[in-house]
Amino acid sequence: MNVAIMGAGLSGLACAITLEKYGISPTIFEKRSQVGDRFVNGEALLPLFNRPINDDYAYLAENHGIFLQPLANISQINLYSEARQGVISGHLGFINSRGREDESFEYQLFRQVKAKISFNSEYTYEQLLQDFTHVIMATGDAEYAVKVENFQVDLTCTLKGATVEGKFDRHHIGIWLDNNLAPQGYGFLLPYSEKEAVITIGYPDYPENRSLNLASLWDRFYTTVCKDFDQNLKITDQFEVNRYIMGLCKHPRLANTFFTGNCFGAMMPAFGFGQLSSILTGIYVAHDLCGKGNYEELVKPLTKSYHNSLLIRRAMEQLDNHKLDILVTLLNNRFSNHILTNKNFNPLKIASYILRPFIKIG
Ligand SMILES: Cc1cc2nc3c(=O)[nH]c(=O)nc-3n(C[C@H](O)[C@H](O)[C@H](O)COP(=O)(O)OP(=O)(O)OC[C@H]3O[C@@H](n4cnc5c(N)ncnc54)[C@H](O)[C@@H]3O)c2cc1C
Repeated sequence: MNVAIMGAGLSGLACAITLEKYGISPTIFEKRSQVGDRFVNGEALLPLFNRPINDDYAYLAENHGIFLQPLANISQINLYSEARQGVISGHLGFINSRGREDESFEYQLFRQVKAKISFNSEYTYEQLLQDFTHVIMATGDAEYAVKVENFQVDLTCTLKGATVEGKFDRHHIGIWLDNNLAPQGYGFLLPYSEKEAVITIGYPDYPENRSLNLASLWDRFYTTVCKDFDQNLKITDQFEVNRYIMGLCKHPRLANTFFTGNCFGAMMPAFGFGQLSSILTGIYVAHDLCGKGNYEELVKPLTKSYHNSLLIRRAMEQLDNHKLDILVTLLNNRFSNHILTNKNFNPLKIASYILRPFIKIG
């Protein structure tokens, strides 16, 4: 068996680590000059969206021998809508870093891989198919899956973010549900430390949003965050992502090509979480190649979560600002806090069960 992994991100590296545990040494191709060279970002893992898993880090360590450390745990989510504010508190998850830093997920995984990575790779998928018996697509986008007509695109999104300097509680994150700032989307703030955070807005590229001016939405969002945090935040770095595809592979495996991470459809459309699913798809491919499971079967729960998440997105897109105010009010009480932090409660499953008769996702 001669295995190529295209992309040294979360899914590609998790796949390599797992293959190596079973004695298979893959060849890894990375188009950039180092791992994590996309952009520096703070991201979150919220078990709330990954039930029945209650602690993503413990789950990966104990069940899959993948060892990761977060930057901080999250003990509070501050919610902001146009006219309301709310708080969810409890053990809510973890913040981690992505990118070129030593503690980023990419670098933590990279240190667990034995195989050499071929950086600055210009290999195409077609070339890899000729030279290897198995190809694992882990490029973090659906480009190739779309090209071979193996991807159902449900939406694309525009994202703009920045690293800001200020004073933050590193255990508190902020989420803005306000159509004036991110129509049918959301904004968030994730601290890297007590002095630095990332702020981001993301919204879908639906026809009604195409005439929106990203620069003015961004200005409005930035001003709102400064006002809500009562600080003059200093922007030190910025990124923009256009037409970020969310969707799902029709076939997670096509002949001896496996689609992992975002190439598979790991991004959950409701809030854009994709890290855990990406890592899991990488592990699952390795299990398949080592005769420990069947990839198409192993990813079925992820496919289900994707569909549940899409349903929730479609429902949330129908909420105007008044309804978002009501949602924030409903979430801001002890009972909601108790339910949302209860490890036996699976909000994706329950919300999708309630919404299914009313919402069309096709
Ligand atoms: C702004 C933003 C915020 C996010 N926030 C969160 C969050 O808070 N929580 C969460 O769970 N998820 C979040 N996500 C989603 C999460 O980051 C992704 O789902 C996850 O990184 C996908 O992992 P992957 O392995 O598919 O791709 P990646 O980790 O992106 O890795 C892909 C790798 O492939 C390489 N590559 C690309 N093309 C080629 C090629 N042709 N040849 C060789 N190599 C190639 C890239 O350089 C990269 O190193 C966010 C995404 C974005 C964009």
